[in-house]
Amino acid sequence: SVSIALFTQDLRLHDNPVLRAALADADEVVPLFVLDDGVAATGFAVPNRSAFLAGCLADLDAGLRSRGGRLVLRRGAVAAETARLAAATGAVSVHVAAGVSGFAQRRESALREALGGRLRVHDAVLTALAPGAVTPAGKDHYAVFTPYLRAWRAAQRRHPVAAPRAVRVPADVPDGVPGGALPDVRPDSPGLPAGGESAGRARWSAWQVDRYEEVHDDLEGDGTSRLSPYLHFGCLSAAELVALAERRGGPGAEAFVRQLVWRDFHHQVLAARPDAAHADYRPHDDRWHRDEAELAAWKAGRTGYPIVDAGMRQLAHEGWMHNRARLLTACFLAKTLYLDWRAGAAHFLSLLVDGDVANNQLNWQWVAGTGTDTRPNRVLNPLTQAKRFDPDGAYVRRWVPELAHVPGAAVHQPWLLAERPDYPAPLVGLDTGRFQQGRGR
Ligand code: FAD
Repeated sequence: SVSIALFTQDLRLHDNPVLRAALADADEVVPLFVLDDGVAATGFAVPNRSAFLAGCLADLDAGLRSRGGRLVLRRGAVAAETARLAAATGAVSVHVAAGVSGFAQRRESALREALGGRLRVHDAVLTALAPGAVTPAGKDHYAVFTPYLRAWRAAQRRHPVAAPRAVRVPADVPDGVPGGALPDVRPDSPGLPAGGESAGRARWSAWQVDRYEEVHDDLEGDGTSRLSPYLHFGCLSAAELVALAERRGGPGAEAFVRQLVWRDFHHQVLAARPDAAHADYRPHDDRWHRDEAELAAWKAGRTGYPIVDAGMRQLAHEGWMHNRARLLTACFLAKTLYLDWRAGAAHFLSLLVDGDVANNQLNWQWVAGTGTDTRPNRVLNPLTQAKRFDPDGAYVRRWVPELAHVPGAAVHQPWLLAERPDYPAPLVGLDTGRFQQGRGR
């Protein structure tokens, strides 16, 4: 007998309940990934993520081959391609991870329609705790983080499962997409990390979780895990990382788990409110300011505020940005310039290698005050942020070469320098930031 393991955002062999269940169901399994035309049509398949995905699929294929199997690739509509393969192989079951976005929910309905009772959907594959596993009385999701964290800690969680030792794939199933393997995509960002489970596991092993609590907000120290792209594509399992961190223990591991709970939190919000990918989570009456030139300056890292510009340039170069920089660059767009958060979120998604509908859109809404922040009027002053999180200015000097010669914290206020560098003047004054002027209240 044959079953199908349909990979989506779970591109791994370790702790993969989808693959384990498919293997348990039949003698042979088809490990399938469909290059989804639907994703391409939404514009989500940008070069940085496509290049990373190619690495993930190559690594998954290598891992399967070392166990006697291989990855089967198809291109097209996921439900139709999967149903075609299920018919051709006489598959008894098709296993897939439950997704959270509106897109994933529609994909699941299409699969159910095409496959009927043969479809098996697995919870808590993409997150440590399944969305909806804990809910406040009378509601379908938590809207506030702290009570969610409490409920999350008290909840029963799935135990990680081991990677399979052997995978047998039916010999008569062709491997690849017609016309060859993956397109050779050139990423937009030169400093992109390598995709795949092997690279993700190597990163986790090399990284020091013990120091996380001390260093996670230090922009120059750059001491966060950088596991986000591996989590987005499921090269690493959130449940396994939680288990590894809990076994390690200590304040660093605890703070790291808390961030993984933020990830689960945003996923459970999106699962219940898929519209929050685009629509304001909380009604927001004010009209956003519109200014294409200001938006372009922000995207290009030319706002005249070095700490903001450093973040935007890190994003362009690495396809990744430090969390503290994401917070302050996003806040600058939504609260200081008072531009629509959707424009900022779209720019992030066009480059972020970890670009994720739940984490990106809901963090943007959190910052913009339209989301789950219980203090929606908070404004991060970029100068105060710079002095706290880049006190010596090293992060700015690294990413803004025009200011590389300016020593110490003076780099944060180039407009005060006796000799003006070749660098833009501030786009707006901070005390006249539009949000503070009252437009946002
Ligand atoms: P670490 O600090 O090492 O944290 C470990 C993991 O916890 C991360 O890999 C991530 O999976 C999760 N995590 C950490 N912080 C958050 C958070 N605030 N929300 C949700 N999960 C979190 N994260 C994405 O994965 N994709 C995005 O598209 C994304 N967009 C963001 C946009 C804005 C405006 C903001 C403020 C944050 C965004 N984040 C996003 C969350 C966070 O900035 C990144 O997850 C983090 O910077 C990734 O680096 P890391 O892996 O070194 O994180």
